[in-house]
Amino acid sequence: MDHAPQFFSIRFHGGADEVTGSRHLVEYGPSKILLDCGLYQGHRHEALTKTRSFPADPKSITSVLLSHAHIDHSGGLPLLVKEGYNGVIHCTAPTADLLRIMLMDSAILQEEDAKFFNKIHATEGLHIEPLYDQGDVEKTLRALKVHSYDEPFPVVEGVEGSFFNAGHVLGSAMVHLGIKTLKRTRHVLFTGDLGRRESILMDPPKIPAHVDYLLIETTYGGRTHPPVHEAEAFLANIINRSEKEAGPILIPSFALERTQELVFILEKLLRQKRIQPIHIYVDSPMAANITEIFQKHRGHISLSKEFRDFAVKDGDPFGLGTIRYVRAVEDSKRLMNTPGRKIIMAGSGMCEGGRILHHLRNLVGLSTTTLLIVGHQASGTLGRRLVEGNRKVKIFGLMHDVAAEVQVLTHLSSHADQEDLSWFIRSLSPRPAQTFLVHGDQTQRDALKERLKGEGITRVITPRFGEVFELD
Ligand SMILES: [Zn+2]
Repeated sequence: MDHAPQFFSIRFHGGADEVTGSRHLVEYGPSKILLDCGLYQGHRHEALTKTRSFPADPKSITSVLLSHAHIDHSGGLPLLVKEGYNGVIHCTAPTADLLRIMLMDSAILQEEDAKFFNKIHATEGLHIEPLYDQGDVEKTLRALKVHSYDEPFPVVEGVEGSFFNAGHVLGSAMVHLGIKTLKRTRHVLFTGDLGRRESILMDPPKIPAHVDYLLIETTYGGRTHPPVHEAEAFLANIINRSEKEAGPILIPSFALERTQELVFILEKLLRQKRIQPIHIYVDSPMAANITEIFQKHRGHISLSKEFRDFAVKDGDPFGLGTIRYVRAVEDSKRLMNTPGRKIIMAGSGMCEGGRILHHLRNLVGLSTTTLLIVGHQASGTLGRRLVEGNRKVKIFGLMHDVAAEVQVLTHLSSHADQEDLSWFIRSLSPRPAQTFLVHGDQTQRDALKERLKGEGITRVITPRFGEVFELD
């Protein structure tokens, strides 16, 4: 390129005013750089339509930078590749390992969903194809190029990329672009999902040195989480209390990060004898596979110092000697009849599918059962109905009375809350010329904008879906 372009632009395509389908496009001269390529989650028709829509023709996209492995950030990649993208996908090494598990699982769900739809609608002659299959995932995985944190790499001529620790999940990164324009180099930072200042499992997010344009997530822009370290006492209380009642504790849990965090806490509580010996089962092949990736990257800098020290000293932060990881379906079924007090962790995290449904079907009607909710429950999900205190719920098409006690642990979010987000922005020196609030419902974005205004931080924008900003 003889002359750098005078301007570049950012197109907010997905995950602007919503917490799903993260996709933003940086256009620089003839280059099109995609930040994340998430899958939309929600009602089938809208989710499929939105997932199929890209901010530019996939064949015309030059480069992709991926913040982390969660499906709402990565799950559109196999479709992008299927539709003709043939460039590189930049990410960190743990993200690449996690992607194999996350995207394969997503492909299997797509294939099953299409099969189910086609069976139900066969008489009407309706037929859908899966968004992508496992072959598309293999092609996507071959396009990955891994980088360490804080080590710049060329993206296209005139643009340099770097990843910084985002503190959200293993290997999660903020994406930094140094963009050469006619007059100067401009620095764009996209936080992806941002972690918290204090976390049991993750190291806090890094504060980058120079940011002109900030794209920051706002999932909890209007919320304050309770202190994370109270989670251990909360959990110990529940377990010790249920000792009296001898009933099982069911924990619907996300396979990536939340399960490993809970296991780490439980392992510590057991060793410190703050809880009595109890059978603990992680009833999820996916969680077991992800835990293996954590084992491989146990010294990774994105994990907290407390965790890394524990891993070096004790060698077993995932309780491989005490906790049972259940893979086979037959073993999962047998858990019902195992004697003694027990904790069963199983997916899905919002009780929308997976093995947790079988345990709920068997145990939700008993007053001795404790159902411990440890993550966000989206509206419309079974998990949400249970949190809201419904005494009758439908599981596999049949109504069940709810006699189990429902407890909610809100301490363990892997997303920054309003305090963390405000701290992060205030820590940037000098202040960004422009801050774009993304990946949050409008109420969360408005709440954070208001908070920032009170702190003298203006030039804050809440972009709409499809909006384009020309920057220099
Ligand atoms: Zn995430």
